Amino acid sequence: MGRLCNRVLGLLLLIPSAVGVAQELAIEDAAVYTSPEAPLRRHMTIVIHQGVIADAGEHVRIPKGMQRISCQGCVVLAGFWNAHVHFMEPKWNDAAHLPAERLTRQLSEMLTHSGFTTVVDTGSEVENTVALRKRIESGEVFGPRIFTAGIPLYPAHALPFYLADVPADVKAKLGQPETAADAKALVDKNHAAGADILKLFTGSIVRPNQVTPMQVEIARAATEEEHKSGGLVFSHSSNMEGTKVAIDAGVDVLAHTPESVNGIDGVVLQRMVAQQMTIIPTLKLFSQDSDIAKIRGLDYQFRQLGGRLVYGTDTGFLADYDQSEEFRQLMAAGFTFRDVLDMLTTAPAALFHLSQHEGKVMPGMRGDLTVLSDDPASGRPETFNHVLYTIRGGVVIWQADRPTK
Ligand SMILES: [Zn+2]
Repeated sequence: MGRLCNRVLGLLLLIPSAVGVAQELAIEDAAVYTSPEAPLRRHMTIVIHQGVIADAGEHVRIPKGMQRISCQGCVVLAGFWNAHVHFMEPKWNDAAHLPAERLTRQLSEMLTHSGFTTVVDTGSEVENTVALRKRIESGEVFGPRIFTAGIPLYPAHALPFYLADVPADVKAKLGQPETAADAKALVDKNHAAGADILKLFTGSIVRPNQVTPMQVEIARAATEEEHKSGGLVFSHSSNMEGTKVAIDAGVDVLAHTPESVNGIDGVVLQRMVAQQMTIIPTLKLFSQDSDIAKIRGLDYQFRQLGGRLVYGTDTGFLADYDQSEEFRQLMAAGFTFRDVLDMLTTAPAALFHLSQHEGKVMPGMRGDLTVLSDDPASGRPETFNHVLYTIRGGVVIWQADRPTK
């Protein structure tokens, strides 16, 4: 874990500052959920100094000359994470050279308008995503913090059917290790290129209704290699067999709820909880499936058993970036707004071993905040979509033209 912390701390130092973006901000007269469990506190002032929350309370003095946001009627939460996105659409190509304003606009349309201050890219061309990240971290482009998996690994000769239209030169780059040694080499290559985590297809959907699992020895070798350098391992498991491979290989996160629910019972879920595995529901992706109620039920049962759920939607694979269906599905599953807030803030911070520095609104935490126009306690799922400001390290990286009420 120590190594992971070092990796992550390295990234923390990359808060935009290089071009002198002021990381000083005061938010006045706000209603605040300081954590998912806390009651709503009103008339709070939050002061962010050098990108970190310096003060938060009812009687806080704002230093002279500081930029102020008057927040009457709005609700402040810790910055949202989306732990399953992709920078794989052609519009991200050549991120090193695209105009900065264009990248900022694309990031706002895809992510920051929904309040995301951190995203986890679970598969894209690693050099390109690293170039995008570099331009965000320099302060030239306004965007979320990005963790990336780089190129995912697939079972040998078993690419998912939905990649059929991918150009041959891109296909050739997709990792399909045939041996444990191949797998380790691919993991190391991804890391050398700047990847932070690993994504495995432990169950690859080669045809609709047909899943080819990854050999467990290969999945285990890749996972162990990733863990050596301190990164987390995400898996697309698809069904019971792919989920068993993920469990046996020691994977950390299922990047989706398994969409084929057959055979995934309380015993399997309990094993995952015992191994401290996390599930990213991605329910919008499955919202048209006839089994959607059962898929939602798996997430609810997993949480009841003590499992950790982290918010993520496969945005960027899904070309429709709207988050409202995900919130609707989570609430239909039986989760409260506090459960959802945990999935958006404290749970991903814990998964990435960052709880000491972020996930809550209190002094000492990163100045990453998502500001809504409505109180999500209303229980209306769309409330989470009514974003007024997305603030990262004290910098407003997105703001609504007008109140979204
Ligand atoms: Zn995905």
